[in-house]
Amino acid sequence: MIALFSLTYQLAGPSFWIYAWVTVAILLLLTSMFYTSVLLPIFNKLSPLANGELRQSIEAYCSKTGFAIKNLMVMDGSKRSSKANAFFSGIGAQKKIVLFDTLIANHSIPELVAVLAHETGHYKLKHTQSGLLLSLIQTGIMFFVFSIFIQYPQFAEALGSTKPTLELGLLAFGILYGPVSMALSLATNFISRKHEYEADAYATKTYNGVALQEALKKLSVSNLSNPDPHPTYVFFYYSHPPLLHRLRAIEKVIQTA
Ligand SMILES: [Zn+2]
Repeated sequence: MIALFSLTYQLAGPSFWIYAWVTVAILLLLTSMFYTSVLLPIFNKLSPLANGELRQSIEAYCSKTGFAIKNLMVMDGSKRSSKANAFFSGIGAQKKIVLFDTLIANHSIPELVAVLAHETGHYKLKHTQSGLLLSLIQTGIMFFVFSIFIQYPQFAEALGSTKPTLELGLLAFGILYGPVSMALSLATNFISRKHEYEADAYATKTYNGVALQEALKKLSVSNLSNPDPHPTYVFFYYSHPPLLHRLRAIEKVIQTA
């Protein structure tokens, strides 16, 4: 990617950032489209979820909420860690639901469907698309700031060179962009936490809040997460709300339903 980036810079001059942005945008789109069909199988084995009570329960939930899903996969997550997870990936016909085998092993069927209902919530509420859009905007800002930055030879000089080059500019930029990226991640984490609450509420309304609460508790144990971290730490670093907050929020949705 750096070679591609360098070539764009040599060919396009000051407006290179637009081309670099478009290139990264295309790569990002391709990655999210083919993540489960091409990239993931390199590292893990994915197999279709076998017919049985779990598959039937999931299909019943999907047809109830009008959500067409053909690809229900199980991933051998236990190969590397005891962490349990489930996710949704791909766009359009490529879309897949992936359940870790570790998740299936430790959860009851209602809990598994509740986790899946949460993932469906992300999809239905268009969080996947807005997340992608957000990272595209973030990348655009980054390239634009970099294109201004690279015009100043002082940064290359600070790193001991008499001649400004793209590579040195990148290095200096990497160091100085830290605070900006920190500010941007505050915003994206805030949005991500909001989306988690929304997906929890969706699962509670369309399926079963109590089962989701149970699932979240177990997940918190198997992922060794802190159930009640300090709010300041959460504000800076958490993309998901802490367990206790999620449980309380689900409780509220159950009571108002
Ligand atoms: Zn989520």
